[in-house]
Amino acid sequence: MSLRPYIVGNWKMHGTRAMLSEARAIDRAAQRHMKVEVALAPPYTLIHPVHREAEQIGVGAQDCHDADGGAHTGDISAAMIADAGAKFVILGHSERRQDHNEKDAIVRAKAESALAAGLRIIVCCGESEATRDSGRAVSFVKKQLKASLPERIDNALEKLTIAYEPIWAIGTGKTATVEDIAEMHGEIRALLIALYGEEHGSEVRILYGGSVKPENAAEILSTAQVGGALVGGASLTADSFMGIALAAGETDEG
Ligand code: PEP
Repeated sequence: MSLRPYIVGNWKMHGTRAMLSEARAIDRAAQRHMKVEVALAPPYTLIHPVHREAEQIGVGAQDCHDADGGAHTGDISAAMIADAGAKFVILGHSERRQDHNEKDAIVRAKAESALAAGLRIIVCCGESEATRDSGRAVSFVKKQLKASLPERIDNALEKLTIAYEPIWAIGTGKTATVEDIAEMHGEIRALLIALYGEEHGSEVRILYGGSVKPENAAEILSTAQVGGALVGGASLTADSFMGIALAAGETDEG
């Protein structure tokens, strides 16, 4: 089985209700590109409004707390985002790791909590520029990812997606070379197969993220083991985001 390319927009801390028109346009365009699975993670405040309007795209969140509830002012649980209409959650994004000092163990706890709430999860990993320059990118990412994945997921593997996002490529306009992307995705695939076995480990989609745009999407998305893209800046307008989805639909697997 080969899954459709998965193109996920991460709106980060962008978007008020005025942006719902973009979400609607993305949803309408996604209905014409069924070879690609399109999803959007708006800020929490827009999850329910986007969910109410969307007929085709998946709607998700950019984070959740690991606890089911309780005295955590300003936080939101996996069950709450599911109740708002989210079907998935992005976890361990490098901006969460940097801005909120999130360690692998907390990403793992959030992943377990999200799965328990019935959500799909996108677990992010990626190295800094210093780590890449030191030649340790592959070992760093594999260790980070292994420690961030849920302890037990065997019966929910279809709910897991990985996003490899080199930190130095996020929002910078720089992208990793196709050779580096292929190497890292191949290593992540090998890790997934080692953890979950050939049959299941080879089905988990591995997205690339880091300055993906309509202009570079075709090349990146046709790289071996790249199952889609996690897109920040270029997901903010329907035109650029769906330009990426269009490129995904034209890859061999799409
Ligand atoms: C991201 O935030 O996940 C991301 C990849 O951002 P950008 O596409 O803007 O680099």
